[in-house]
Amino acid sequence: MTLETENTIDRLFRLGKTPHYLTPRTQIIRIMKQVTDNPCCAGCCWIGRHARVCHRIEEPKNTMTNCNNREVVVVGSGLGGLSAAISLAQEGYSVEIHEKNSKIGGKLNFLSEQGYTFDLGPSILTLPHFFERLFARSGRKMADYFSIVAVRPHWRSFFPDGKTIDLYPEPELMAREAVKAGASAKSVECFLDYSARLYDLIDRGYFQEGLDSTRDILRFYGWCALPRFDPLRSMHSGVARHIQNPYLKDIFDFFVKYVGSSAYRAPAMLNCLPTIQFRYDLWYVNGGMYNIARGLQKLLGELGVAVHLNSEVTEFRTSQGRVTGIVVNGDRFHKADIVVCNMEVIPAYRDILKEDATFLRSLRKFQPACSGLVIDLGLDIQYPHLAHHNFFFSGDQQKHFDSVFRKKVLPEDPTIYLVAASRTDPTVAPAGTDCLKILPHIPPIDPEHPLQLDDYTRLRDRILIKLEKMGLTDLRKHIVFEHFWTPYDIQKQYYSNQGSIYGVVSDRYLNFAFKAPKHSSRYDNLFFVGGSVNPGAGMPMVVLCGQNVCRDIVRWDQLT
Ligand SMILES: Cc1cc2nc3c(=O)[nH]c(=O)nc-3n(C[C@H](O)[C@H](O)[C@H](O)COP(=O)(O)OP(=O)(O)OC[C@H]3O[C@@H](n4cnc5c(N)ncnc54)[C@H](O)[C@@H]3O)c2cc1C
Repeated sequence: MTLETENTIDRLFRLGKTPHYLTPRTQIIRIMKQVTDNPCCAGCCWIGRHARVCHRIEEPKNTMTNCNNREVVVVGSGLGGLSAAISLAQEGYSVEIHEKNSKIGGKLNFLSEQGYTFDLGPSILTLPHFFERLFARSGRKMADYFSIVAVRPHWRSFFPDGKTIDLYPEPELMAREAVKAGASAKSVECFLDYSARLYDLIDRGYFQEGLDSTRDILRFYGWCALPRFDPLRSMHSGVARHIQNPYLKDIFDFFVKYVGSSAYRAPAMLNCLPTIQFRYDLWYVNGGMYNIARGLQKLLGELGVAVHLNSEVTEFRTSQGRVTGIVVNGDRFHKADIVVCNMEVIPAYRDILKEDATFLRSLRKFQPACSGLVIDLGLDIQYPHLAHHNFFFSGDQQKHFDSVFRKKVLPEDPTIYLVAASRTDPTVAPAGTDCLKILPHIPPIDPEHPLQLDDYTRLRDRILIKLEKMGLTDLRKHIVFEHFWTPYDIQKQYYSNQGSIYGVVSDRYLNFAFKAPKHSSRYDNLFFVGGSVNPGAGMPMVVLCGQNVCRDIVRWDQLT
C-alpha cells in the first residue's frame, strides 16, 4: 500500500467521529489496498464519514468444466437476465438469451428525439461495485466498458412552502442542510447510524447470500438476530423515531421510492436504503444510463453468449416437473437443460406456463409495486435552480402514500420525481435547454377498475401545474417535445405485472418485503431472476440477483 493510501485512511479516520456507520478500519485498509493494487475496482473510494467503499473485488473466474456445456436459455434481457447470462457463461455454461424487444436492457431504456435524450427507465445508479464484479470475474475492468461519475447534490427537495433541502454524502455539507431544515445534524447522524446497522445486517445475508425465505433467514441469522431488523416498526416509524423535523422526515421516508412502495406499509428494515446512497454514493453513467446495457452487450459478445432479439417466448414446454425447452414467436422450439426466466414471476406462471388458479392464488402476496407516469419533456429553456435529481414534495405525503398504495387511486397531490440530467451531462439536450423526465408514482393497473387515457392526461396536467407553482414558471409554454407513458405502455413494453416499475411491493402486511424465490417450486430446472424475486427491484439488486441465481444453479447442478 502506498504512503498516499495510508495517509488517506488516516485522514478518513480523523474525520470520523461517529463509529457506527464507519466501515471498520481493517476493512477500509483491505479495500484501499484492493483499490490501489487491483485495477478492476470501480474506483469508488471513501470521502466522508459515510464510507463509500468498493468491497469484494472478485478474482477472474476459471471457466468450470463440471457443467458439461449444459444449455441455458435466459428469457428476457433486463439487467437481471443479462447478469445471470454473463455469470453462467463465466461458469462455462452455454447460454443464449431470447428478448421480445428489439434491444436489450428491459426497463433500462432510452429515447432520443429532436436533440433530446431521455432515460426512459432508471436514472440513478447505486452500488456500482455489484456491476464491477461482472467484469472483474472475466478479468476485465468496468471502466473500459462504461464510465460513471458521482452526482452532487444527490437530491434536491422542493417543498410547497418554498423550502429547498439538498442531500449530500459529505457529513459537513449534510449537517449544513439539516440545520437549514431546522433540525439538528445529530438527528441525521443518528438516523444514518441506524440505517447503516440495518444495511450491514441485510447485506451480509439477504443480499450477498441470496436468502429466499423465512427459513433461510432464520438458519443464517438465528432467532436472536431478529430484533435487529426492527421488525415491529414500519419504515416511517423507523424514520420518525430518529427524526422529528417534518422536511427531513418526508425526505427519508421517500427513500422508499427505490422499491416503489409506501413508507407507512414497508417494514422498517427498508431504512437500510439511505446507506446505499450515503455510503456508496449516487452515480450517473456518462453518455446516459443505457451505456450500462451497451457495456454488458459487449461483454456478452466476448463471452460468446448469443442474444436473439425480437424473440418472444410464448410457451415453456414441460414434462415430469421440468421445462424441456421454450417456444419462440409461437412456432420455433429450442431445447433447454436449464431455463432462467427474467419475465416476472406472476406473468410467467399465468401467461406462459398457464398454471391453475390455486397455484396463482399462492402468489397473491407478491403484489406489484407501484407503476409510474413517465413524462419526458424537451424544453426551449433551462430552469437553473434544478439539480440533476429533484423531488417536489406533496403537501401531505401520508395522503399521497395512502392514495397510491391503499386506496389505489391517482393521487391528487403526488410527490414528483424530476430528472434534469443535463446538469451532469450537457450532451443530453441542446445548449441552453433542458430535457426533463418527470415520474410520479401511481398505482399499478387494476384490471377490475381500469383507468382511461383521459384519467392519466388529467394527472399529467395537474403535475405540470404543480411544478409551475413550485418554481418552474410557464413550464407548459416551453415544451417543444413531449413523450408520455402510462402503466399500460409500461406493461406492454416489458410484460411487467400490472405495469409495475419495481417488481413486487414491499409490504409488511403482505410479504414483509420478501419477493418470490429464485428457484421455481413447480419445475426443477426453472429459475427466476429480476425485480419480482429476492432481493427485488432496482438496477444493482437485479444485477446481484443474476449473480446469486448463477450460484444457486451451479450448486443445484452439482447435486443433480
Ligand atoms: C421509469 C422507471 C424508473 C426507474 N428508476 C430506477 C432508478 O433510478 N434506479 C434503479 O436502480 N432502478 C430504477 N428502476 C427499476 C429498474 O429499472 C428495474 O428494477 C430493473 O431494471 C429491472 O430489471 P429486471 O431484470 O427485473 O428486468 P426488466 O427490466 O423488467 O426486463 C425484463 C425483460 O424481459 C423481457 N421479456 C418479458 N417477457 C418476455 C418473453 N415472454 N419473451 C422474451 N422476452 C421477454 C422484457 O421485454 C424485458 O426486456 C426504474 C424503473 C422504471 C421503469
